[in-house]
Amino acid sequence: MSAPSPPPSVDRLVQLRAPAHWQAVEFISDLHLQPGEPKTFDVWRAFLQRPVPERADALFILGDLFEVWVGDDVLEASASTDQAFWRACAEALRHFSDKTPVYFMAGNRDFLLGTEGLRVCGMQGLSDPTTFDFLGQHWLLSHGDALCLADTDYMRFRAQVRQPAWQRDFLARPLSERTAIARDLREQSEARKRNTANDPSLWADVDAAAARAALQATGAHTLIHGHTHRPAVHALGDGLQRVVLSDWDAAAHPPRAEVLRLDAQGLRRVPLPLS
Ligand code: MN
Repeated sequence: MSAPSPPPSVDRLVQLRAPAHWQAVEFISDLHLQPGEPKTFDVWRAFLQRPVPERADALFILGDLFEVWVGDDVLEASASTDQAFWRACAEALRHFSDKTPVYFMAGNRDFLLGTEGLRVCGMQGLSDPTTFDFLGQHWLLSHGDALCLADTDYMRFRAQVRQPAWQRDFLARPLSERTAIARDLREQSEARKRNTANDPSLWADVDAAAARAALQATGAHTLIHGHTHRPAVHALGDGLQRVVLSDWDAAAHPPRAEVLRLDAQGLRRVPLPLS
């Protein structure tokens, strides 16, 4: 069997202009979908199964939809014990995207989702960042990890794993080996989190100067991002702001699952019904 396809580098959009008929769009990120956490998956699937009139005109997934993605062959390899879960995710997305466009930006967990994975899920890949023209304004969309400049260890790691050569080499390894490497990396990351008392407020945050510079370079006024798991609106001066998406965990107390909706009335957080 040939190695899974790497993430596309040339066919991702860097600028997206909303069609004139779009009236509303929805943003989500950081669902961290994974086998063994069925509650979040169930809330998300119910969200995708809404009738078309209840949906926005497009869904934007701004990274870390999946807790881990070690190659598109997780969808087909019978060696993958979690195959049924990943296929159920892809099936739910494809069904939704039959009627409503879905745009996917990679996060630090699912950056190896490749051309085949996007196709199977019916998603269009977005570059990080992407400028989005909607309602007569520019909006800047990002996962957010590339702007957390204070986390220098992570920035080094990110620069390495986003190189096409590193990705080709990794994806050429057997699925079992990739799964084991990913597990090690996640355990190291979890250990770092425990060192900071598992408190997101102690994790590296988006650098305000970098966020301002990115906005000014693209003529956008609002940066919409995820990654930090700290939903908030931060004023950056000169009318610039960044709006942070919530992560999802339907099994937490209290549970977290919400969508950021953007229409002519502005940005609004919409909590989802929890089953
Ligand atoms: Mn992230």
